[in-house]
Amino acid sequence: MIYADNAATTRMDNEAFEAMKPFLLENFGNASQPYSFSRAAKKAIKQARSTIAECIAALPEEIYFTSGGTESDNWAVKGSTLLCGDLSETITSEIEHHAILNTCKTIERLGFPVSYLTVDSAGIIKPDILREKVSPKTKLVTIMLANNEIGTIQPIQELCSIAHENGCLFHTDAVQAVGHIEIDVKKLNVDMLSASAHKFNGPKGIGFLYIKKGTNLPPYLDGGLQEFGIRAGTENIASIVAMGVALRNNVKNIDQRYKELKKLENILISELSKAKIDFIRNGTSLGLPGNVNLSFRDVEGEMLLHRLDLLGICVSTGSACDSKRTQISHVIKALRIPDVYGKGTLRISFGKDNNEHDALRIAKELIRIINLIA
Ligand code: PLP
Repeated sequence: MIYADNAATTRMDNEAFEAMKPFLLENFGNASQPYSFSRAAKKAIKQARSTIAECIAALPEEIYFTSGGTESDNWAVKGSTLLCGDLSETITSEIEHHAILNTCKTIERLGFPVSYLTVDSAGIIKPDILREKVSPKTKLVTIMLANNEIGTIQPIQELCSIAHENGCLFHTDAVQAVGHIEIDVKKLNVDMLSASAHKFNGPKGIGFLYIKKGTNLPPYLDGGLQEFGIRAGTENIASIVAMGVALRNNVKNIDQRYKELKKLENILISELSKAKIDFIRNGTSLGLPGNVNLSFRDVEGEMLLHRLDLLGICVSTGSACDSKRTQISHVIKALRIPDVYGKGTLRISFGKDNNEHDALRIAKELIRIINLIA
């Protein structure tokens, strides 16, 4: 099998998996208990929090563990709007993940206005578009750092400055970016940042929300006093530990991996071009390493996905969460490419287990299938 759907999820890092085990079997104590048996769990959570903070240039007390990217996004958006009580506006973009878009729909149903910024043909949000939209009524701006479908990286530092100049909070969904490109929350200057472990070779169902010190974000889950009293629930210790190890290992190799993945992208693109296949590459070549989103003319993306599946090759047509739908995804629509290409969209996302043979094989099979139906 060739697994090339790493934007949907990744295989767990072996060391991270090994690090989980003791906290499921021997050191299974509840970290909130005062007896000495729970000390190992408490210490492990503290260690993971420091490691994760170090990887994104944050302080340990700015890292709040959650159940993943979806919860972090919900907390940031609902926390900054609903729970603060006033009918202020939220600004987001039309290419966000559904964890943001559907959260925005919920707050809209409750009467909170939301504006959706457009992107250019490469999938980038121009800072001037935000500058025109932001107003004294705006409370929150939430723009993703990197897009899950097309891999575009947004000018977050600039967008964040505009939000701050206008007295707004700034949140970024960095689920696709953390562990794949360098993240420095102090340089970005964001108030909140969402991340999810299964996108960087950690376990599923665990993530974190970075909340800048001094940001007034109310609790999202009420209950016990875990996570500095603002995110209740017994800690998922084994997964928290594994997330720390996975992120540390990914960050350690980030530059090397960037080069390797860009090479795989280039192999795939150049093979398709050499074979004179008619396609558009969505996003830009400066996007997330390994993310290649292609729209083939007069081909059904779903058909390509199923044919590749029969050959043991896993890719995606849109984002994984949308894999049951056959419509052109909201992200591809936002790029305003012609429908004859849009319907034939495929996302190939390479990860650390892929090699040059995988890129060549995917290219070879795509060329064969497309030429067969032409
Ligand atoms: N945000 C983005 C950009 C994503 O790609 C995803 C997952 O696909 C999520 C949020 C949701 O994260 P999780 O699967 O951890 O809930």
